[in-house]
Amino acid sequence: MKLPVLAAAAAAALPTIAAHKPNLPRQGPASSGSAATSSTFSVPGYAPGVSVASSFSTLPTVSWSLPSVNPTAIPLSDIVPGTITTQSTLGATTTFPAGSTPTGIPNAPPMPNWQTLSPANYPALDKTPPTDSPQVQQWIQDVQNSGIAIPDFQPTQPGGCPANLELASNETLCWWTCTGCTASTDITTCPTKLTWGVTHDDGPSPYTPNLLQYYNQNDLTGTFFCIGSRVISYPAILQEEYMAGNQICAHTWSHPYMTTLTNEEIIAELGWSIKVIKDVLGVTPLCWRPPYGDVDNRVRAIATAMGLETIIWTRVSPTVTFDTGDFNIPGDTISPSQVLLNWENIMGNATIINTGFIVLEHDLFAQTVDMAVGYILPAALAFQPKLTLKPVIECLGFTLADGYLETNDNTTHPLPTSSFSNAPSATGAAGSAQASASGNASGGTTNPTGGAASVATNNALLAAGTAAAAILAALGTLL
Ligand SMILES: [Zn+2]
Repeated sequence: MKLPVLAAAAAAALPTIAAHKPNLPRQGPASSGSAATSSTFSVPGYAPGVSVASSFSTLPTVSWSLPSVNPTAIPLSDIVPGTITTQSTLGATTTFPAGSTPTGIPNAPPMPNWQTLSPANYPALDKTPPTDSPQVQQWIQDVQNSGIAIPDFQPTQPGGCPANLELASNETLCWWTCTGCTASTDITTCPTKLTWGVTHDDGPSPYTPNLLQYYNQNDLTGTFFCIGSRVISYPAILQEEYMAGNQICAHTWSHPYMTTLTNEEIIAELGWSIKVIKDVLGVTPLCWRPPYGDVDNRVRAIATAMGLETIIWTRVSPTVTFDTGDFNIPGDTISPSQVLLNWENIMGNATIINTGFIVLEHDLFAQTVDMAVGYILPAALAFQPKLTLKPVIECLGFTLADGYLETNDNTTHPLPTSSFSNAPSATGAAGSAQASASGNASGGTTNPTGGAASVATNNALLAAGTAAAAILAALGTLL
C-alpha cells in the first residue's frame, strides 16, 4: 500500500506525534525538589506559569510547560506552520581572513579563502550528483580499495518501509528507519546521563547566524550536519560555525533517502558533501548523519569506507524518539506548540534513561531556529536536573580535533577507514581503523525491534519526511 506522499504525511504524522506522550513514564523536575521551576516560564503576551495552547485551527491544540523561555522569543503565534517564513536574518556576522584557525583545534590547518570557490565547480544543487565524473569515479575506486565489504543489497524502493515490507523486516539489512536497528558503530546517544549532544541539521542557512548568536551569548557549542548544496551556497556561515568551536559533520549533497540510491550514487552524495566542507574549512569531517535517519548496512559500509562515522539520534522505542519534529513546521504537519510538548517529553525522558542523548533539530528554516533560540535551548539551560550541552564529539569524550581527518592524531579516537582521495595521506591512520571498521560495518546489529507497530510508526516518519523533502527541494532555489 502506498499512499500519496503528501496525504500520507498529513494523515500519518499525528499518530507519531501523539505517541510521544502516552508511553512515557515521565519524571519531571519535581523529583529533584525544584518543582517550582518546572512550571515557571514567560512568553510574550502570556502570564508566567500558565500553560500555553496552540492557536492554530488546523493542527491539534496542545499545551506545554517549559522551565524557561527566552524573554526575546518570537511569540508562537508568529511562528507560522505551512509557510516559508521570512524574517530578519543576521547574515554572517564575522568574516574570517584566509588562514584563520579555530582556537579549539590547536593543530588545525589554515582555513581557505571561500571567496575563491565557485559553485560552477560543484554539482547542481539539491540533486544527486552524476556518478560518471572523474572525481566520483575516483571515489568509487577508493571505496573499492578500502577493503570494506559492501553488503550486496539492492537499493530500497522509494516510499520507505511500507513500499519495502520484506526488506523492512530483514534484520540483515539493519534498516534503522524501519526497525530501529543499529550497528555497533552507530552513535545514537551520549554516554553520560543528562548530557545532550546538541545537533542541528540541513544548514547552513540564512537563519543559522541567529542560532550562532544565541550559542555565543550562552557559551554553547554543538554539532552541525551540513548539506553540501547549502555549504557551497553559504560558505561564510559554515566558516562562522566552525570558528565558533562547533563540530561540522556531513549530511549528504542533496538530502536524499540514502537507502534508495545505488552504491555509486551514495558515494557521490557523500563524496561531494565531504569535499565541499574540506574546500571551505580546510578540514575533512569524520562524521555524517543520514537524512531522515535512512540508513542500512549497505549505506553504513560505504560511509565507513569513506571515513565517516554514522550519527543518528536517540530512539528509546518505536514510538519514543528524541525528535522534536521541528522539521515539519514548514510542512504544516505539526504546530509549534506540539514541538514544545515533544521537547518537554524529551527532557523528561532524559531524566529516565541511563545514558545521555542526541536530539534531532534543524537550522534550515526560520521556524526551526526560532523554536531553538526562543524555547528549546532556554528550556534546556534552565532544566533541573541540570543538563550538559556539548557537540557530539565532545559528549563522547573526545576533542574537536578528533572530529577531522587532518587534526585527528588517531590516538584517543581512532579514525574510521579513510582511503578517501581528498584526504591527506600523512595521517597514515587507515590501517588499524580499517580492521575494526570492517568488522563493525558488516555485522554487529543490535536492537532489531521489528514488528508491525514499528513499521507503521516509521511509515509516518518517512512520509512526513518526504513531505518536508519537497519543501527542502523547493527551498533550494530560494535560499
Ligand atoms: Zn536532514
